[in-house]
Amino acid sequence: MANSPDSDTRTPPHVLWRGLSLLRGRRRLLAGALLTTLVISAGQLAGPKLKQIGIDDGIRAGDARLLGWVVVVALGVHLATVVAGYFQASLLNRIGQDAIHDLRLRLFDHLQAQSLDYYEREQPGQIISRILNDMDAINELLTSTVTALLADVVVLVGTSVILFRYHTGLALAIHFLIPLMFLLGWAFRTRVHATFMRARQTIAAVTARLHESVAGMRVIQGFAREHRSCEEFGQLLQEDRDANMAGATVFATLSPGVELINALGICIVFWYGGLLILRGELAIGVAVAFILYLNHLFDPVRRLSEMFATVQRAVVALERVFEVLDRKPTVTNAPGAVSIPPLRDGVEFRGVCFSYDGAREILRDVSFRAGFGETVALVGPTGAGKSTILKLLARFYDPQAGEILLDGRDLRSVTLESLRRQIGFVPQEPFLFAGSLRDNIRYGRPDAPDAEVERAARLAQAHDFIAALPEGYDTDVHERGVRLSGGQRQLIAFARALLVNPRILILDEATSSVDPFTEKRIQDALRVLLRDRIAFVIAHRLSTVVHADQILVVQDGGIAARGRHEELLYSCSLYRALYERRFQDTAEEEAVVA
Ligand code: ATP
Repeated sequence: MANSPDSDTRTPPHVLWRGLSLLRGRRRLLAGALLTTLVISAGQLAGPKLKQIGIDDGIRAGDARLLGWVVVVALGVHLATVVAGYFQASLLNRIGQDAIHDLRLRLFDHLQAQSLDYYEREQPGQIISRILNDMDAINELLTSTVTALLADVVVLVGTSVILFRYHTGLALAIHFLIPLMFLLGWAFRTRVHATFMRARQTIAAVTARLHESVAGMRVIQGFAREHRSCEEFGQLLQEDRDANMAGATVFATLSPGVELINALGICIVFWYGGLLILRGELAIGVAVAFILYLNHLFDPVRRLSEMFATVQRAVVALERVFEVLDRKPTVTNAPGAVSIPPLRDGVEFRGVCFSYDGAREILRDVSFRAGFGETVALVGPTGAGKSTILKLLARFYDPQAGEILLDGRDLRSVTLESLRRQIGFVPQEPFLFAGSLRDNIRYGRPDAPDAEVERAARLAQAHDFIAALPEGYDTDVHERGVRLSGGQRQLIAFARALLVNPRILILDEATSSVDPFTEKRIQDALRVLLRDRIAFVIAHRLSTVVHADQILVVQDGGIAARGRHEELLYSCSLYRALYERRFQDTAEEEAVVA
């Protein structure tokens, strides 16, 4: 939210108001819940009054008929309260679940619209925590707090009115205890807020670490860091435990305080009320009603002051959620952006300069042109800026200076959807989603018929190994026992890209070496993949650079040299050094399979 123009939402009343607006569209359900709440509150208020009438006008006045009626009415009131309680619970549940469902979906949708910079900065676990953990507090606010507020106010005011009508002096004596209860609740609120904040942060840290550890398990095991990793996780769990324990301790100190004030109230009624009865100024039934009403007086006061804690907890959660919802993607469609037709001519970078943080320049004055049908290989030392060039081409970021043109059109003037639809992206470590191999291949074209999926797999040299699996294309990639090698995953990614048949292909070749047979397959598949489109490859294979129409040697964010393999071998010492260090290793492997 810090970046958001909507920054006034940071003040709690605004956040709260905005949070309550999540109930919009659920007015009927809410009205039903409030109505049932009123019925329950009325039932609570009627209980002691009925007992007083039963004692004074029934038992003491010797009126058995009235006593009978009072019992019948009391039963009716109980029944109504129970029925209303049932409807209240189910309505509140429905309201809460619906609101959380919608909010989670909005958050997820919004997350998908975020630009790459957001994901390169945020920890995945922290994002997940906002969608999962923060929702409980918001749910509580939207359901129980809203109705409890109404119920407590109704019961508090109703009880006060009834007590004052019974006996002003005795009512006044008891009402003196209300500020005490408020003070107790207030002190409680202040302490509980700090513990809630801590608990929220500790559970987010636990989620983030858990996510990171599961994702990085191979590295943890590879470096035999299990013990240390467990210790670190244990430390976070301990902090979470401590934060929750502190919260529980604060809660535990509340009940004795409440009981003490209650006991004081009962003593006042006994002593002062008893004196009034002795003097004949008060009926016994009224004194009993006073004692029964005490809870109705103190409970709402305590809950109302505690409610600040619930509200604050929800405000903290809402702030975290709205921060995501208010975050504008850094890369969006410009006003008037047009849909670009399929690329025909080529791609051009003109004097492109770029920095991720606005301070350190990563790309300086990058200019090159690539025509349709060409394969452009990017080579250069690590950190030189090769991936960054391709991230700009897919418009994950916008350059600070210069322009990137597709068929002579600035990237910023075309819609992101029409641009990305033309681009096929094959990362170094392809990501496979849960589901069958078939669904993974047709990821970019979910409606592709099976025959086309198979054709793409054949072209990508993936068909043979898929067909050899017991369940073939229906094999679930995340199922136990299914292990795809790095090379096989690459072939699946090739098939996925081929099925979409993108005009522009961006490929980050894997560096990991594979067995000679897979290597041969990858090379054959690559030849098909790179054909009939414009392809940009961060090249790690000799065969790729040798066949490339244009090699861009990237160094320190600039294009140090360009040309074909043989030309560069003679003209560029950096390329020659790279060739000797990197490509010659693969040259030996490639020779084995040639
Ligand atoms: P490699 O061959 O190792 O993948 P590369 O040539 O592709 O390297 P880039 O990934 O483009 O290099 O990175 C270029 C520079 O930009 C590096 O110094 C890197 O630290 C920096 N960089 C990359 N991504 C980010 C980011 N999201 N935020 C800030 N700096 C970044």
